[in-house]
Amino acid sequence: MSRRLPVYVLLDCSESMIGPGIEGLGSAVKAMLRELRRNPQALETVWLSFVTFDSEARQVMPLTPVADVQIPSLQVRPGTSLGGALRLTIESIRKEVKCTTVTEKGDFRPLIFLITDGQPTDEWRSVIKELDTGTKTRPANIYAIGCGADVDLAQLGEITDIVLQLDKVNADGFAKLFVWLSASVHSASTGVADADPSALLDKLPTDITKVDLKKVPAHDGRSRQIFLQVHCSQKRGVYLMRYRLDEKSGRYRAVASHPLATVAGETAKEFRLPPVNSLLLEGVEACPYCSNDSGANCGACNSLFCISSRNLSSPSVCPSCGDSRDYGESAEGFMVNQSTG
Ligand SMILES: [Zn+2]
Ligand SMILES: [Zn+2]
Repeated sequence: MSRRLPVYVLLDCSESMIGPGIEGLGSAVKAMLRELRRNPQALETVWLSFVTFDSEARQVMPLTPVADVQIPSLQVRPGTSLGGALRLTIESIRKEVKCTTVTEKGDFRPLIFLITDGQPTDEWRSVIKELDTGTKTRPANIYAIGCGADVDLAQLGEITDIVLQLDKVNADGFAKLFVWLSASVHSASTGVADADPSALLDKLPTDITKVDLKKVPAHDGRSRQIFLQVHCSQKRGVYLMRYRLDEKSGRYRAVASHPLATVAGETAKEFRLPPVNSLLLEGVEACPYCSNDSGANCGACNSLFCISSRNLSSPSVCPSCGDSRDYGESAEGFMVNQSTG
C-alpha cells in the first residue's frame, strides 16, 4: 500500500456559524470531495476524517479513503469546544496514523485544518501545552482558518504559526476555501508539506490571507465578540444577536441577529459564560422573526426577549416565563447572560 496522507478537518458548528450559513460549509465540503476524487494521486493517497465541535467535540467520521467518504451532516449547537476537538484529533492521530519505523515507511505527516469563527468556550491552552512538551515535533501540521473579521486571531496564533483568515464568510467564501484546501491536499499528497508546512500557502486565493501574527496584538483577555440569545415575543423563535468589540471605546456594538434553529429540548442551554453588563452593549439589531427593534431583559427569569420601542408604555410579556411588566428606557446597567456562540 502506498503512503497515506491523513487529513483531519475540524469544523466549528457552534451557533455563531449560522450567520455565514452552515449550508455554505456543507456544500463546500461536497465540492472538495468531488475535486479530490477527480485526482488519481489524491484518490490513492488522501484519507479524510471530520471532527465537528460545538458544546462537545465528535469525530463524525474516522480516517477514511477519499473514495469512501460520506458527507457529514452538520448541525448547529451552542458552544465552541475547541480544546475538546484538538484533544480528540490528537488521540485519533495516535490511533489511526502509521508512524515510520526502521523497517517501514509510515504515513505522511497528518494535516489538521481547523475552521472556526468563534472564541473557544472550553479550556484549550492545556491541550496545546501538552502537544508541545515531551515530544520534539508535533504529530501534525496545523492550519487554522479564522472565518470572518471578528475571529480572535491572537488565540489562533497560540495554536499554530499558520493562521489564515477568510474575509468573506458566505457560500462563495467557503467554496474558495475548500478549493484551496483540495489543491493543498493534492500537493501535500506528493509529500511536499512533510518538509515545509508553508509550502501549501503558495496558491492562496484572493479572499484568504495569511495572517502576519507579529502584527496581531497579544490577547488582552477581552472577547472579540459577544453573543446574546434572545426569544421572540411574537413568534416563539429564538435568535442570536452578535456584538462586535469596538477597540477604542471598549464597548460592543450590535452587528447582526440570526435566527436559531431550535432543537427540541436544547434551547436556552446552561450559560457558562459570565454575564455581561448591558452598559457595555451598544444598540440592538431587529428581531429576525417579527422585526421588533428593541430588547428587554426579563425581570423575573432573566432571559432576553424582543420588544418594540413604540410599545414601551404598555406592559410586555416575557415569552419564556409569562411575566408581565413595563420596560421603559433604563439608564442603569443590568447584567445579561451571554450565549456561548
Ligand atoms: Zn420578535
Ligand atoms: Zn421571563
